[in-house]
Amino acid sequence: MFKAARLLALFGSALLCSTAAFADGVVNVYSYRQPQLVQPLFDAFKKETGIEVKMVFAEKGLIERMEQEGALSPVDVLLTADVGRLVEAADKGLGQPIADDKITGKVPAALRDPGNQWFGLTMRARVVYASKERVKQDTISYEELADPKWKGKICTRPGDHPYNLGLIGAMIAKRGEVATKTWLEGLKANLAVKPSGNDRAQAKSVAAGECDLAIGNTYYMGLMMTNEKEPEQKQWAAASRIIFPSSPEMGTHVNISGMLMAKNAPHRDDALKLMEFLASDESQALYASQNFEYPVNPAIKPSEIVASWGSFTPDSVNIMEVARNQKAAAQLVNEVQFND
Ligand code: FE
Repeated sequence: MFKAARLLALFGSALLCSTAAFADGVVNVYSYRQPQLVQPLFDAFKKETGIEVKMVFAEKGLIERMEQEGALSPVDVLLTADVGRLVEAADKGLGQPIADDKITGKVPAALRDPGNQWFGLTMRARVVYASKERVKQDTISYEELADPKWKGKICTRPGDHPYNLGLIGAMIAKRGEVATKTWLEGLKANLAVKPSGNDRAQAKSVAAGECDLAIGNTYYMGLMMTNEKEPEQKQWAAASRIIFPSSPEMGTHVNISGMLMAKNAPHRDDALKLMEFLASDESQALYASQNFEYPVNPAIKPSEIVASWGSFTPDSVNIMEVARNQKAAAQLVNEVQFND
């Protein structure tokens, strides 16, 4: 019965999608991660195994697409740039558990699903870009960002972006919703301008003197520092230095990029090979350095540029709890009208 349904599903999808997507020796990936970050890994994977990776990239809507496609979905592996979407996909029943020590042996327990449906691959910290010129202090805490001493001096992207929802979710886990709401109000009151643009745009604003502190992910600093296509970004990066926020209560917030095997993966065996490959030492080093991130496997060193930013104490909150708090975080962002 199951087999028949599955065959029918495959047949149905083959009509809907291209037949190539269901050919052997192919793994289909839906990726929230930029193609240029993952393509080098897929190329290396093909070289090693002969298996081709076909990728659909989108910044939004891939999980919704998986839901709509249901059992007919051609997707084998979902790649995301945050934990929220991994948990969302698992919660919606779009994943399947993987018992494979080539993966679990490489990804620390705190950075993967206790039910082994999703796995972190790289880690990034949400830090402060501080103006080299105007900010003298070397330490800061997230709590301090709500201190009136920074009135009119802080820039950030919109509060409802997954990166900020992660940070706010971590704050909720540590301090509860009431204190987090007060913090968010304080942070809003300190903003130099309405939240807009991405993390790099905030570094640009610091360089332009519009703000002294910006909130951003670590890897954007590396991407700007080395940007040959838009060399003006090197100036944006050069105007700031990274401070890893930390207080006795809350360490530096980290989020992960990661992977999940789709529930109905048509190429399960090859997909598993891809996931093992992505978790391997070789890929960890390559994947992390590609985007100036931290490998989740502590045995693998980050790239030179990343290491140059210094060390930090990651916040102790469970990454799963951060993901679970995203809804509450989004609610608070609305309540304090953070983006208006
Ligand atoms: Fe990003």
